[in-house]
Amino acid sequence: MNQENRIKKLNNFNLNINGNFILYYMNLTQREDFNYSLEFGIYLSNKYQKPLIVYFPITDYFKFSNLRYYQFIIEGIIKTKKAIEQRGIKFVIEKLDYPPYKKIIEKSEKCFSIILDKGYLKYQRKINEIIAQKSKTAVFEVENDVIVPIEMASSKQEPYAMTIRPKIYKNLNIFLKPIQKNEPKIKSINYDFEFNELNFNKPEEYLQILNIDKSVKPSKYFKGGEDEANKFLKIFIEQKIHKYKDLRSDPSLDYQSNLSPYLHFGQISPLKIVLEILKNYSINDPNVQSFFNELIIWRELARNFAYYNKNYNEYEGIPEWSKNTLEEHKKDKREYLYSLEEFENAKTHDKYWNAAQIEMVKTGKMHNYMRMYWCKKIIEWTKDPKEAFDIACYLNDKYELDGRDPNGYAGISWCFGSFDRPFKERKIFGKIRYMNEEGLKRKFDIDKYVEKINLLQY
Ligand SMILES: Cc1cc2nc3c(=O)[nH]c(=O)nc-3n(C[C@H](O)[C@H](O)[C@H](O)COP(=O)(O)OP(=O)(O)OC[C@H]3O[C@@H](n4cnc5c(N)ncnc54)[C@H](O)[C@@H]3O)c2cc1C
Repeated sequence: MNQENRIKKLNNFNLNINGNFILYYMNLTQREDFNYSLEFGIYLSNKYQKPLIVYFPITDYFKFSNLRYYQFIIEGIIKTKKAIEQRGIKFVIEKLDYPPYKKIIEKSEKCFSIILDKGYLKYQRKINEIIAQKSKTAVFEVENDVIVPIEMASSKQEPYAMTIRPKIYKNLNIFLKPIQKNEPKIKSINYDFEFNELNFNKPEEYLQILNIDKSVKPSKYFKGGEDEANKFLKIFIEQKIHKYKDLRSDPSLDYQSNLSPYLHFGQISPLKIVLEILKNYSINDPNVQSFFNELIIWRELARNFAYYNKNYNEYEGIPEWSKNTLEEHKKDKREYLYSLEEFENAKTHDKYWNAAQIEMVKTGKMHNYMRMYWCKKIIEWTKDPKEAFDIACYLNDKYELDGRDPNGYAGISWCFGSFDRPFKERKIFGKIRYMNEEGLKRKFDIDKYVEKINLLQY
């Protein structure tokens, strides 16, 4: 065992010696490799001679249950199930028509202990809290989603990347170690734990039994699974990272890693990405530093934001100075005003903005630079900044494969002034940073980006 700092016990119950099995409720960490919740489960199983079961309930109960996300999740989970079963561990997928915590609490009397993945969003934290309060056994939470555990990095909301950076770097070496794999002594694969197990092989079979929004089509550009994530990582290390610092911002090119959908669903570990890169490059390489600044600093700042700011996904969560300046300019005349429907259907006067929206709708992933432009323009073309915030969250959460993530709420909040400084005052934006079409034209071959988007399939 290493990385024990990732584990936290959530309640006062002891391990239930009369319990029949250890239940790992897989939620955020939908992978076999670099999964510390799984390895901790195997460790407990070996130590106390109790079989381990990995439990993955699927439910159409959640907001934004749509075909795009579910196909991606199910493509991934079928492969993860196979990889975990190859290690002799039972993996149960069960369909539930209600929130999964109810079933887990119901089963808790039979559990020796329960293991949960730690999440930072309100509903993820609530689910874990309820399970910990209502279960009749020891409940542990494991932090797999970051390099440095959030509370260890900082005990408060960090206002800027520059304030969290030294706090993360101070602890980095403790965590830059591979997750040791444990060999399970008890092969639970053929045990019957009395769940209503689904044993389909194809994603379509699972999708058929779910009542989800089918209007958002699956992406033709991103397929789910650890193997797909590993392919993107390999391409990134072999062909892109050496130019990342200079070219990552150019939307007409493709120098980002494209790993965000996989990170979002936990199909790849951020720690694994870092360690794979360090096998090939020095930590002092400027491109590596630039990439780690995004993958570690900004990504973990976003998690810090979601964890310590209860309004992280609302306009109310942005800093006072930016709220004040936006409110002061609320009455400024807008040259263009669009409804949610017009935004959603990419019906603005601006071909660059429309291209960005189309990229998101068709592929499930908009280029980072265009995300900033996209959100800034929603502020400019909406009557009220609060309404603009909600429109940006709605579209981002509905279409981006990596949406509904702390990064999305932090990214949108950044466009509204969070983590940023005041700029020269101007209309509508007040003192928050402004972006315009001229900037796109000056910095990039932006018409090439539009041409690229026109060729996308859907
Ligand atoms: C308005 C707006 C909305 C955004 N919505 C999301 C979202 O819903 N989900 C999401 O994952 N990211 C979001 N981002 C952040 C960023 O645009 C994406 O993480 C990035 O484009 C994903 O592509 P990639 O994996 O190829 O990135 P790379 O450049 O290869 O970066 C690697 C990883 O670093 C992390 N990262 C990169 N940039 C940021 C950033 N600015 N903040 C936090 N983490 C970052 C991501 O996990 C990313 O996968 C948003 C940014 C803005 C401005």
